[in-house]
This record gives sequence, structure tokens and C-alpha cells, in this order.
Amino acid sequence: MRLLEAYELKRRIAEELAGLLGEEVDEAKADPHAKRRPIACGITVHTGVGCPVGCAYCYIYSMGFPRSIKPYPLSPLQLAYALAVNPYVAVGEWGTLIATGSVTEPFLPSVASHSLSYLRAIAQYLGNPIQVSTKMRPPLELSEVQRGLDVLISVTDLSGRLEPGAPKPVERLEAGAELIRRGVSVTLFVRPIIPGVTDSEADKLLRVAYDLGYRRVVFGTLRVTPSIMARLKSFGVDVAPYVRGPLSERRQIPIKYPKGRLVEMAKTLGFQVLPASCSANITAHGQACALCNWGPCGDPKRLKVDVGDVGDFLAARGYRGEVEVRGLSVRVKVRGKLKEADRVFMEQALRVRVNDRA
Ligand code: SF4
Ligand code: SF4
Repeated sequence: MRLLEAYELKRRIAEELAGLLGEEVDEAKADPHAKRRPIACGITVHTGVGCPVGCAYCYIYSMGFPRSIKPYPLSPLQLAYALAVNPYVAVGEWGTLIATGSVTEPFLPSVASHSLSYLRAIAQYLGNPIQVSTKMRPPLELSEVQRGLDVLISVTDLSGRLEPGAPKPVERLEAGAELIRRGVSVTLFVRPIIPGVTDSEADKLLRVAYDLGYRRVVFGTLRVTPSIMARLKSFGVDVAPYVRGPLSERRQIPIKYPKGRLVEMAKTLGFQVLPASCSANITAHGQACALCNWGPCGDPKRLKVDVGDVGDFLAARGYRGEVEVRGLSVRVKVRGKLKEADRVFMEQALRVRVNDRA
């Protein structure tokens, strides 16, 4: 889709949703989902607030989220509207990637139906590629939400000893396998890798998942703060030898852990190993992306970048200047300042980097 069409689609969907919402638009407009800038791998949608599961390595408590959970306050329609009016977000089939389940657990019983309503609203009104990450047994209704929807079954090892409030990893994997049988894309998400825990029986974990029908895997690095390290220690896990640099409660830092052995193990078994969760979303939807150095993901021939397309968009937005396309990236030089929202919107709609040379 051309950039101007993508922009018009966003405007039209926002207008339609505003008509359905009436006075409820104000709350949606003021919500962070209407303002937050996506990162390269998409925008995170919060289906709930907090999580009581208490995984030993979880970062959400360091971010200030509570150890209880309640549904996110927006209605599903309001959530879809908030995303549509977010100036950075592209909507539609090739729009901004949607990631749910990163700062809460979407399928705890008290929020599961609310979370499903969010996913359905995004699929129905916006159409963006959706991915959901879970440590629960994923509900079968996911098979009806969106063609290509990707479910990440998140595990760290087979014992589940660091996830006291979650179902046993094998139960999660089996529930994910049922979705695979129903045609849903389900990815094994080994995250975070806990040194001395995940790697000690990774071959068994990978084999169990492979035998259940999983064919894609993403390995994710542990990020720590002093309180995460202390919590892990109370579970008998010391990751201090893998931490470089000063620790702060305000900023999680990734540990230094070579994933090579796990990657080789998975490849030998027959898994497709993807570099990041967003890559699984792209692959599941049969799309492509070249927004970061880990890519390009998917088939880069599907990324259409055209000087005239970018030029038309910039002109319609009131800019004058030059555009240069260099392989899978775009450079623009405009008179005055290119608004960050316009630059990011172009990146999100094109899935390639857009650099402002001004
Ligand atoms: S289920 Fe997810 S959000 Fe909840 S504590 Fe575990 S890792 Fe954190
Ligand atoms: S290129 Fe791949 S890893 Fe990078 S943001 Fe895109 S999908 Fe994610």
C-alpha cells in the first residue's frame, strides 16, 4: 500500500471508530496507547495492569506494576481507536506489529475474555498483525481471531520452578500444540534464558516441543535489575557472573550470555530459529521487515520502497525536500524539521528505516 493510502486508511478508520464511540473518544485519546511510540518490533498493547504470577525473573515489578491484575481500563473499541489515532502507528494488514503479553499475563482467568476482546477488536477494526505471548494455557478461541496470528508459548525450562504461579511448562506447550493442530502459528519462546537453569536441560525442552509440533523458536535474553537478581538468588540462581556494567533499579540491563549452543541445538533438531519475537510475528503473517540490524525478516522482496511514494507523502504533509532510497532504507532531507511522528509513521508503514538527513 502506498504511504498516502496508508495515511488515509488510518484517518478513515479513526473517524469510523470515533462515530461508534461518541463521548468515549476523549478517554481513548488521553490513553498512552494513543501516544506511545512503537519500537522497531512494534507496539505493545496492555490487556491488563499488573500480574500476580510472580515469575522469579520478571521485570514488570521493577517497572512499578503491581502483583495483582485487573483488566486494562479501555473498552476494546476504545483501544482500537487509541491505536488508530496514535500518530506513530500505521494500521492495516501491513501496519505496525502488535505485541500483547509483554508487561502482564493476558490469559489469567480474570482477564482472559477482556484480552480476547482486545485482540478481536484490533483484528476486526485495524487488521494489524497480532502476536500474543503467554505463560498460561492459551485459549482455543485464538484460532478464530486472525489468520496468521502468532502465539508465543513462553518457557524457561521444563520444571517451571521459577514460575510458581503458572501452569507447568508441559501443560502450556500441550495447549499450544492444540492450537497448532487448529492451524494457528505457535512459536516456542524460550525467554528468558536463565544460565544454569534453561541451558542445563535445553535439549530435553526443545525435543519435547518439537515432538509436540513446534517448528519455530525464539531465544530471549534475561534482563536484570538489582531486585531481579535478588529474587533469582532467593530461588537459588546466581546470575552475577553474567552481568557487566553498573546495575540500576531504573534500567534493566541484558546479561551477557552466548546463545550459540542453544541455537545450534535447535537448528539440529529442525527448528527455524528466529532472532526476535517480532520476527515470529512477521513470519507467521508471511510478511517482511527490515527495521533493525537483526533483519531483514521474511522475504525482503516483499518490501516495496519507492522514491515517488515517499515524495508524495512528504509533499502532502507539507514538506519540501529530497528523497533517496538506498536498498532497504530511505534518506530524506527536508527544509525545516521532519516531525518525528511522520518519520516513524513512514518506517512503520514501509518496514524499512527512514533517516532524516536535515
Ligand atoms: S506471567 Fe509474565 S508478567 Fe506475570 S510474572 Fe510471569 S513473566 Fe511476569
Ligand atoms: S527486522 Fe526482524 S528483528 Fe528487526 S524489527 Fe523487523 S521483524 Fe523485528
